Amino acid sequence: KPLVVAIDGPSGSGKSSVSRETARRLHAAYLDTGAMYRAVTWYCLAAGVDLQDAAAIENACEEMVLAISTDPDREHVAVGGEDVTTAIREPEISKAVSAVATTLGARAELIRRQKQIIADSGRRIVAEGRDITTVVAPDAEVRILLTASEESRLRRRGLQLGGTQSAAALEEQVLTRDARDSTVVNFHEAADGVFTVDSSDLDFDETVDAVLSVIRR
Ligand code: C5P
Repeated sequence: KPLVVAIDGPSGSGKSSVSRETARRLHAAYLDTGAMYRAVTWYCLAAGVDLQDAAAIENACEEMVLAISTDPDREHVAVGGEDVTTAIREPEISKAVSAVATTLGARAELIRRQKQIIADSGRRIVAEGRDITTVVAPDAEVRILLTASEESRLRRRGLQLGGTQSAAALEEQVLTRDARDSTVVNFHEAADGVFTVDSSDLDFDETVDAVLSVIRR
């Protein structure tokens, strides 16, 4: 059975970049589950699906052809053959994505696909998101909650976006989104058996090292 590393955490915790680098160091595959929620959101917006209509979102999610690269050195997401790798990072997607994430039928479908990707990977894999340690891979060999103070999450996301965003815009993208998402998944507290790594006072390399030392403990 291949090694599965599950990593959850709020936005701005450094989760994606740290998980991707951890996968590289382990010569493992990498699954960014947030990209899948973003891809469904992109598809709904492109197809004119009403984001208030849970059944329509669920249908869209079930019918969509979604391909995601699990190579940590190749970021690639495609919907129906169309490359959406950059489009899913746009602010309009970040704003709308919670509508998909809080639709339980859509979650069920994505969770099913994520479990499948992990099972099919056939090698070590680092999977990252909000509910990986608890729902998608609760039996993973290593489970980590990557946390950081509110202040450092806002600062980090601000730097990531090139320092162009107002404080209010950053709060909307980090805190408001997390508050909406928290209504369906708890990624602020570590479940039983989940290790917490707090990156507030760590730089990128130190955070990767902290994660690797949990894996190698
Ligand atoms: O990680 P990222 O910020 O790209 O995730 C985008 C959105 O996808 C989150 O705000 C959340 O709504 C949703 N998500 C989720 N469960 C996951 C991963 C992401 O609900 N496992």
